[in-house]
This record gives sequence, structure tokens and C-alpha cells, in this order.
Amino acid sequence: MGDRCAHIEAAVGQLRSATGVVSVALSSLYETEPVGGPPGQGRYLNAAACVETTLEPEAFLELLMVIERELGRVRRERWGPRIIDLDLLLFDDRVIDSPGLTVPHPRMHERRFVLEPLAEIGGAVIDPRSGRTISEILMSLP
Ligand code: ADP
Ligand code: MG
Repeated sequence: MGDRCAHIEAAVGQLRSATGVVSVALSSLYETEPVGGPPGQGRYLNAAACVETTLEPEAFLELLMVIERELGRVRRERWGPRIIDLDLLLFDDRVIDSPGLTVPHPRMHERRFVLEPLAEIGGAVIDPRSGRTISEILMSLP
């Protein structure tokens, strides 16, 4: 919602200045039609980032949620319009299934709006659950 580009830039700025974050490389921004959620939503702006961090995955997700809150995200309807949504897609080749964190992100494999920006910066990265690269998963989508 609002100035979507500015919200992404603000989130990346906060990420870059956070303790434990060494570097952040951002993909291009992709404008996409909403998938799921309530009717009548505007288009979304999506990007993927490659982050080098000394944080463990749980602490890194916590950081993402702190940034979401600082940017003013209020959690209402799931998949409804929001100011920002920061998801952890992959963390090295780790597979995590804890109550608050699933890595690789459980819904990334079917979402073109995730895989396209991700493939731009990490097409050769291997999804540790399927053994396929991000580019292969993207190309196999219907
Ligand atoms: P969505 O990203 O599907 O639109 P939310 O942003 O509201 O939904 O996330 C809901 C919950 O998903 C978060 O509270 C978080 O604990 C959990 N979660 C589990 N795994 C992940 C992940 N890999 N990345 C982001 N959130 C995750
Ligand atoms: Mg999320």
C-alpha cells in the first residue's frame, strides 16, 4: 500500500544498517497482479534480496519482523494489502521446520512473483528440498 517503492527502499535501508547484516544485494522490482487475498487489491511490487549475515535464521526472521513493524505494518487479513512483507526464502542449504519458521519458504515454489526476482539474483541456487535450481523451478511453472 502507499508508496510501494519507497517502502521497499526503506526496508532495504534498515536491513543494511542492522547489526549482523554484512551486505544486501537487491534484485530489480517486479510489478505483479495480486495472487489470492481479498478482491479489489492493487498491484504488488516484489523484489528478492541476497543478504550476507552473521545472524542465525531465527534471529534473522525476527529482524525482518522488527523492520516490518517499524515500517508500520499492521497484521490484518492474511494475504490482504500491506505496507511491506518480508519473507525468508532460503538460508544457505538449510532445511528448517520449526513452529515459527519454515525454510525454504513453503509457498515460494508455486509463486512466480517470488521465483522471478529470486532467479534474477540466484537462479543457480539449489532448493535443498527438491535439489532443483531456482531457474528450473521457475521454468517448470505452468
Ligand atoms: P505471508 O508472508 O504468507 O503473507 P505473514 O507475513 O503474515 O504471511 O507471515 C505469517 C507468519 O509466517 C509469520 O508470523 C512467521 O512466523 C511465519 N513464517 C514461517 N516461516 C517463514 C519464513 N520462511 N519467512 C517469513 N515468515 C515465516
Ligand atoms: Mg510474510
